[in-house]
Amino acid sequence: MSCQFNFSAGPSLLPKDVMLRAQLEMINWNNTGMSVMEMSHRGKEYTPIILNAEKNFRALLNIPLNYRVLFLQGGAITQNFMVPMNLLNGNSASYIVSGYWSKRTYIDAQPFSNMNLAASSEDIGFKKAPTVDSWKIEKNDSYIHFCQNETVHGVEYFEPINTYKVPVVCDMSSTILSRPIDVSQYGVIYAGAQKNIGPSGLTILIVRDDLLGFADKKTPTPFNWGIQSENNSMINTPTTYSIYMAGLVFEWLLEQGGLKAIEKLNLKKSNYLYNFIDSSNLYSNNIAHENRSRMNVPFRINNEDLTSKFLIEAEKNGLYQLKGHRLVGGLRASIYNAMPFDGVKALVEFMRKFEKTNI
Ligand code: PMP
Repeated sequence: MSCQFNFSAGPSLLPKDVMLRAQLEMINWNNTGMSVMEMSHRGKEYTPIILNAEKNFRALLNIPLNYRVLFLQGGAITQNFMVPMNLLNGNSASYIVSGYWSKRTYIDAQPFSNMNLAASSEDIGFKKAPTVDSWKIEKNDSYIHFCQNETVHGVEYFEPINTYKVPVVCDMSSTILSRPIDVSQYGVIYAGAQKNIGPSGLTILIVRDDLLGFADKKTPTPFNWGIQSENNSMINTPTTYSIYMAGLVFEWLLEQGGLKAIEKLNLKKSNYLYNFIDSSNLYSNNIAHENRSRMNVPFRINNEDLTSKFLIEAEKNGLYQLKGHRLVGGLRASIYNAMPFDGVKALVEFMRKFEKTNI
């Protein structure tokens, strides 16, 4: 095996210790003689697995008691219609478009009526996220939606959003658990698991309990947050193994010192990479400094012809999955929680060498 560091945007690197533990427990979990994959989701063996996962997730994010945690399926994209189905309640909603994913969310919401554009940075190529004070809410809005981190464009919000009069719904797929947040500022937070949580298939949703109960009557039961909440996320079979893996990741995060400690490491990693890019003559990143993502660092080689050579040589050096998203091209290093500082150091060393030999 030659891959030393995997910079995939998702599904992505998981902590090595978590993978080793899963391997150890793969065919016989806790002396039950069963794999977690083979257990009934309602059985006495599986119940502590999901309960512990929720307990540790709550502890990590300091989730207030008036919020429910749901373990859902369908990926973050499914929430593009679940959010309006569960919250719209005959009113309007507003969307912020700050990159590829939030634009897609806004487009997917169009079949519902009264979907407004609250702010957009598309005209400036998504280089800077619309500031919170520029978001336009409509008087009948049931909610306002934004994406905390644009995984493709590498644009992240760091501003507090505590001034909001309508519930704020946030797609945190690529930032969740990367730093502490104040959950009480949000009405709903959701995230696909395959970046900072665990394997794909699982979507975690945090919802303030007074927002349950507004679902359109036509909402199918697995997509109805209120019904899922009443049934402990088991109105249908949940993604049992992904939840088990997520639970291992939560334990690992707590062992690392929780979100304050992981934020410190994420800052160190992203600063190291951005500082190098800014100091070089070959690479560039054009995102406004205040919005530079700590999780996804897109960059370009000033001579675009060198991009494929860079990718081939990076792989030879054990640095994998650095290709930019197919829509924007270039390069992208995703440096989620599980990426050690050594991975970023190895990338920068390689980039420096590549620059020297290709200038
Ligand atoms: N939102 C964001 C911010 C994402 O990064 C992604 C996936 N990369 C999605 C939504 C879509 O997630 P999924 O493919 O799990 O539906």
